[in-house]
Amino acid sequence: MPELPEVDSYRTGLAKTMKGWKIKGGKVIWPRTSDANFEKIKNQKIIEFNRKGKYLIIDLDNHHIIIHLRMTGRIDITNGDTPKYTTVEIQFENGKKMCLVDYRKFGKVWVVENTDDIVGHLGIEPLSKEFTANKLEIMLENRFGRMKPLLLNQQFIAGIGNYLADEILFRASIHPLRKANTLKEEEIRYLYRSIRHIIRKSINYGGTTFLTFRGPEGKKGDFWKELQVFRKTGEPCPHCTKPITRIIVGQRSTHICENKQKIMKKPD
Ligand SMILES: [Zn+2]
Repeated sequence: MPELPEVDSYRTGLAKTMKGWKIKGGKVIWPRTSDANFEKIKNQKIIEFNRKGKYLIIDLDNHHIIIHLRMTGRIDITNGDTPKYTTVEIQFENGKKMCLVDYRKFGKVWVVENTDDIVGHLGIEPLSKEFTANKLEIMLENRFGRMKPLLLNQQFIAGIGNYLADEILFRASIHPLRKANTLKEEEIRYLYRSIRHIIRKSINYGGTTFLTFRGPEGKKGDFWKELQVFRKTGEPCPHCTKPITRIIVGQRSTHICENKQKIMKKPD
C-alpha cells in the first residue's frame, strides 16, 4: 500500500537516472491496468518526475505518464527483462525497461496530455507552502465527518493512506472517530504539525515496506522501524505502555492508544 512517501521515493530516485531517456515503445500485459496508446509517446524524452498525492507523474516532451501503484504495485527498472507480475512495461532506446510489477494488479497507468484529467480532483498537497495550520483550520470548519476517514479522503488532503493516518492521529492525540468540526484550535495546530512531521520523517526513511514495495534501486523503505501504533496491536504504547488496540473505522484497520487518543476530551 504505497502512500505519499513511497511514491516520493520513486520520484526522487528515478529522476536521478532516468531523465533524458528516450521512449521506444510500451506494452500492456494486463489489459485492465491501462488503455494507454504508447505509440503516441514514441521518441519522446523524459523531462522530469513529479508527484501528486499517491500518483507518480513522468513528464515527457509532450505527454505525461501517470502511475498509481494502488495495493501492491512497484516499479522495476530492468536491463531488458520483464519480471513476473509485470502489468505494463515501457521500453527505452537504451535497452532498459520500466515495469509496473503488481502482484494484485490494481495499479493503473495513463498517458495524457493534461495531468488534470487524472489528478485534477486531488486535494491539497500536505507538504506544499499553501498547506498551513490556518488553512487546515478553514478546511476543517464545515466537515462533520470523523477524522480518520477525512484524512484518507484524497480530495481533502492528497497522499495520506492507512499507516500515515494512524501514525498522524496517534502523534496528535486525536481519536480516529473524533468529529472533524469539534477540534479545538490547539488540536488543529498539533494535527497540522503531526501531518507534516510524520510524512517528512517517512520520506527521510525512504517510505515503509510492508509487503511488496521496493523503492528505486530495489531498496526497501525503513520507516516501518519508526511506526508507533500501526499494526502494533497488543504491543505497549511507546508513551504510556497500555497495549495498542485495533478498531475498525470506515472498514479500515485502525490502531490507537486508548489513553492518548480519547474521543471525549476531559473538560478543561
Ligand atoms: Zn499510550
